[in-house]
Amino acid sequence: MTPSWLDAARQVNVPTVAAALGRKVARGRLSPCPACGAEKVGHDDRRGPVGVTLDGKGWRCHRCQASGDALDLVGRALTGKRTRELAGDHAALAAIRDWYSARGWCAPAPSTSPHARPLRRVPPPPPPPSEPEPSYPEPGEVVSLWEACSRVDPTGTDLPPVALSVAFLLSRRHLWAPAVADLDLARVLPNPEAHPFPHWLPTRWWPTWALAVPTWTPDGRMGGFRFRRVDGGRKRKELPHLGRSGGLVLACPVALDLLRGTPDRAVWDGTVLLVEGVPDFMTWATVPGVPRPAVFGIFQGAWTAEHAARIPDGTRVAVGTHNDPQGNHYADALAATLAPRCPCFRVRP
Ligand SMILES: [Zn+2]
Repeated sequence: MTPSWLDAARQVNVPTVAAALGRKVARGRLSPCPACGAEKVGHDDRRGPVGVTLDGKGWRCHRCQASGDALDLVGRALTGKRTRELAGDHAALAAIRDWYSARGWCAPAPSTSPHARPLRRVPPPPPPPSEPEPSYPEPGEVVSLWEACSRVDPTGTDLPPVALSVAFLLSRRHLWAPAVADLDLARVLPNPEAHPFPHWLPTRWWPTWALAVPTWTPDGRMGGFRFRRVDGGRKRKELPHLGRSGGLVLACPVALDLLRGTPDRAVWDGTVLLVEGVPDFMTWATVPGVPRPAVFGIFQGAWTAEHAARIPDGTRVAVGTHNDPQGNHYADALAATLAPRCPCFRVRP
C-alpha cells in the first residue's frame, strides 16, 4: 500500500516543486535538468532543457531524455535518483518526506519529533542560474502570429503596411514581387490593436518594420522572424526578433524540403545558394523556373553545423554573401561547416 504521505506529495505538480527546488521555470521549460545538469537545450537554443507536460504532472529532458513526475524531480534533486528507484532506502525516502513536509505538502514523519535520531541532512537546492530569459519565443506563438499576418498581395489592399510592403518589394530590382506571396516567403504584421502581439514583439514595430520573414530551425520548423523596414527609412533596415537570430535561417520552400530531409529532385536542381539578408534572399528565392536551387538567407550566427548537416553529401554550394569584409568572413565560416563533404564556390549575386 502506498504510504499516505506519498499520495499527498503526488498532489504537488512539477512547476511548484521545481520552483521550491530553486530551479528556473519559464514558459513550460525547466532549467537546469535534475539528471544531466544541462541549463539549455543546445548551443543555439537557450530555452530550458526540460519540457514540462501541459498538465504539470510530468517532465522530460531534451538533452539526456531523463523523465519522470514531480516526485522524481525532487528525488533526483535531493538524492540523485528517481523516487521510484528508492524503495527500501529509508534514509533517502525520509529526506524526501522531510522536504515535502517542511513545505506543508504532506504530514511530517513521526521520526521528526525532538527525541528521534536526526535525519540525514537535506542538501540545499542549487542556486537559480543567472542566465537571462531565453530569447526564443515558443513555436506556437510564432506560428499563431504568422497566421494572423496578411498576405503580401500586390493586387492590393489599402492597408498602409501592406501597401508599403508591396511598394518595397516592387522597388527592388530583379525581385519578382508576386512570387513572394505565391511562395509565402513573407507576410505583413497585423495591426496590434486588432491582434494582440506576443510579449517578445514590440508593437511600435508596426507599421515601420511590418514585413515579417520567417526564420527556420535546422529541422525546418518556424522559429522566429526577421522584420524588414518598409517605410523607406534608412536606419535599422532589418530587425531580428528580440535582437538575435542565432541558429535560425531564411529558407525558400525547396530549402525547407532539405532541412526536413525530404528533398524532391523534381523541383530541386541539386544545388544550394547561400545569400545574406532579406532582399538578396527574396530576390534569389523568387527567380522563376523549375528545378531550382535551394536558397538560404543567413545573418551573423544564423547558419549552424546542424543546418549544414542537412545538406546531402556532394551538393554543390554557391556562397553569395556580400562582397565586404563581413560577407567574406561569413563565406569562410559557411564553407567551413560544409567542407569537405560539399564543394563550395564563392559567387557574387
Ligand atoms: Zn538532462
